[in-house]
Amino acid sequence: MKFVSFFVDGKTRIAPEPSAPLDHHPPPASFYNLPDFDPPPLNEDFAFNPTLQAELAGKLLLLDELSPSLEEIQQHYNNGYIQYNKGIDDEQGNWKCNRCGNCEPHMFASFSCYRCKEPQCVYCRNCIMMGRVNQCTPLVSWIGPGLNWKNRNSALLVWDGMLSPAQEKATKKLVGKIGVRDELLIWAVCGAGKTEVLFQGIEKALKDGQRVCIATPRTDVVLELIPRLRKVFPGVTLSGLYGGSKDKMDGAQLILSTTHQLFRFRKAFDLIIVDEVDAFPFSYDKTLAHAVQQAKREEALIVYLSATPDRKMKKRGEHGELSSVKIPKRYHGFPLPVPRFLWCGHWKKRLKKNKLPQNVMSWISHQMERNRQGFLFVPSVRTLEQIVPILKEVNPLIEGVHAEDPDRKEKVMRFRNGETPILVTTTILERGVTVPFTDVAVLGAEEEIFSESALVQIAGRAGRSKDDPAGEVLFFHYGKTTAMVQAKRHIEQMNREAGL
Ligand SMILES: [Zn+2]
Ligand SMILES: [Zn+2]
Repeated sequence: MKFVSFFVDGKTRIAPEPSAPLDHHPPPASFYNLPDFDPPPLNEDFAFNPTLQAELAGKLLLLDELSPSLEEIQQHYNNGYIQYNKGIDDEQGNWKCNRCGNCEPHMFASFSCYRCKEPQCVYCRNCIMMGRVNQCTPLVSWIGPGLNWKNRNSALLVWDGMLSPAQEKATKKLVGKIGVRDELLIWAVCGAGKTEVLFQGIEKALKDGQRVCIATPRTDVVLELIPRLRKVFPGVTLSGLYGGSKDKMDGAQLILSTTHQLFRFRKAFDLIIVDEVDAFPFSYDKTLAHAVQQAKREEALIVYLSATPDRKMKKRGEHGELSSVKIPKRYHGFPLPVPRFLWCGHWKKRLKKNKLPQNVMSWISHQMERNRQGFLFVPSVRTLEQIVPILKEVNPLIEGVHAEDPDRKEKVMRFRNGETPILVTTTILERGVTVPFTDVAVLGAEEEIFSESALVQIAGRAGRSKDDPAGEVLFFHYGKTTAMVQAKRHIEQMNREAGL
């Protein structure tokens, strides 16, 4: 589709070709090649479509993502309620994607475009999984009246749980920051009950009519949080956004989202809680950090949640540049299980002969004898594929799962249900999955992928339940690494700070 430009009262206006007035002069052009233009002034008498407002307020969307017709969208432009923005911009000779902020030259490509008929239409590869942003496709934003939530009573928190003293302290700190333009790090050990710490702060924000977002790198976490938050905030409009979710288009006040989905928001949130701020892919992808900055409003509070904040964040905390509060004790009050290191020899060599180290095999039989489940973390999918057939000979119910596994959900479910004695996994399960009566082992803990924070998170899978607080954590290795030693120290330090 091309756009046309035309003059109204001496100002340049634009319209998509199908809804263009008949008397436009320059020929239709790709959106990118239009002259500078302005939205018409706001016509307060115009009866705007509240569905479009709900879909678009605080967002930046492609025309294809909106439900009203092109004609109706254009009417909103004509009356000053929406603005068309460039999808791909040119900044000092470099391409920039206005949705995801990408400006890496190799992350752009061009193609012969069927929409604008240009032989070289540039598009962004970085955010293509959310629908392609081309040079010729505008990103639409809402500039009419904002959404309003007058929720003073319906936003009440319905929860009668108890907070531990450490949770209480963090909660107070958070509540005190609501409405303040600031950043806060909540450093909570695995199993501290960090979600409950957020409840009162979120309640205050919602009651003040603020729009709130909890963003997390992983879809699994969004899926887990949706029912929990619906239950405690039954009077609030809530939507869960992740790749493939159905609730994209509404004006919910409380949004649970993967960090990727934040690309679609602009100046939307008064409170953004970024969960697992150190986790892949957030820590590796600068455009995701950019997404948080874009999605927040000017005066917003950003809260970072982490069990293993990275060095930069810890430093900012130490230097007083970042307010922080620590929850060193698990909710059930028992210490974090401290990992034990077990040398297992040249395990890769043994694997080539279709064998596992003796002590790993003994651990597996021991787990099954005493009826305890176990996670066996391995450094790569390749290792996983070598190990699983060996273990299936011991017990055919043993399974392996990795990020790209099509049966991932079912396998995790079977493990949760206690049907799978040992689940061999890559680091995808290092966070989130919690099953009582489960011990944890790592094979090849010396491998680079097992960073200090990955190992702390892995160890954090054990002993989460108060019915089984003393889970076991074993690191099978072929040479101790600094990361292993630091992970152990980190855990012991937290236990000391918790007074345990
Ligand atoms: Zn992009
Ligand atoms: Zn095009």
